[in-house]
Amino acid sequence: MSASHEVLIVGGGAAGIAVGASLQARLPGIDIAIIEPATTHFYQPGWTMVGAGIFKAGDTAHDMASVMPRGVRWIKAAAAEFAPERNAVVLADGSEVAYRSLVVCPGLKLDWQGIEGLADALGRNGVTSNYRFDLAPYTWELVQQLRRGRFLFTQPAMPIKCAGAPQKAMYLSADHWKRTGVLDEIDIDFCSAGAVLFGVADYVPALMEYVQAYGIGLNFGENLTAIDGESKRATWGE
Ligand SMILES: Cc1cc2nc3c(=O)[nH]c(=O)nc-3n(C[C@H](O)[C@H](O)[C@H](O)COP(=O)(O)OP(=O)(O)OC[C@H]3O[C@@H](n4cnc5c(N)ncnc54)[C@H](O)[C@@H]3O)c2cc1C
Repeated sequence: MSASHEVLIVGGGAAGIAVGASLQARLPGIDIAIIEPATTHFYQPGWTMVGAGIFKAGDTAHDMASVMPRGVRWIKAAAAEFAPERNAVVLADGSEVAYRSLVVCPGLKLDWQGIEGLADALGRNGVTSNYRFDLAPYTWELVQQLRRGRFLFTQPAMPIKCAGAPQKAMYLSADHWKRTGVLDEIDIDFCSAGAVLFGVADYVPALMEYVQAYGIGLNFGENLTAIDGESKRATWGE
């Protein structure tokens, strides 16, 4: 057993850093360690703004060391296994870190292979995703380039990282097309695997005002199953 901490956090993303900073502020002197292998911390909600030309991609990336709360120990390694019977986490190199309390926040793993052809199609032929740091700038390129035609915004079935991200990308893009005088020339479609515009009903009326103002076509129960980037065709199914 190499070390033991009062609080051990797995993951130095938004959640891990926020939990560490909050505990540190409430309980000064508490012994906290964060297990995180990445040397760059990404502010993922900012990628929506990158896709809309409001932030530069670089604004959303910070050295992990610079966001670690002061006094929190950073263990630069990946957690490989949980050993709750020993109150320990096994690291990728086989060593163990023990804890009194464990907070697990490794985020969601994206399943790019879940849509046939998507991984190959991304980044060219007008196929993009704000869910990738390196592609959000391409979204903004496409939004600026389009003067007429059709732009599809898709949302897969839950669980997804942010239930609002697809719509935010759509409204910000539509706003750009409106301000540059080309909105009437562009067909905007929102194709969601879900059954409603937003899961919290109270927000729907306000969102519908924007849907109508931008002339957006709503399509629910549409599950994107395949993309052919070369021919610019999307396939929907079960
Ligand atoms: C385009 C986009 C827009 C979004 N907009 C919003 C928004 O407006 N509002 C909102 O609340 N959320 C939004 N989100 C969701 C946002 O990603 C989450 O709110 C936030 O990043 C979740 O934080 P997290 O720490 O759980 O995960 P992440 O930020 O993904 O961090 C997970 C961390 O765990 C680390 N990790 C993974 N595996 C291991 C391991 N085995 N061992 C140790 N560490 C590991 C990773 O390296 C990473 O640093 C958006 C997401 C995207 C992609």
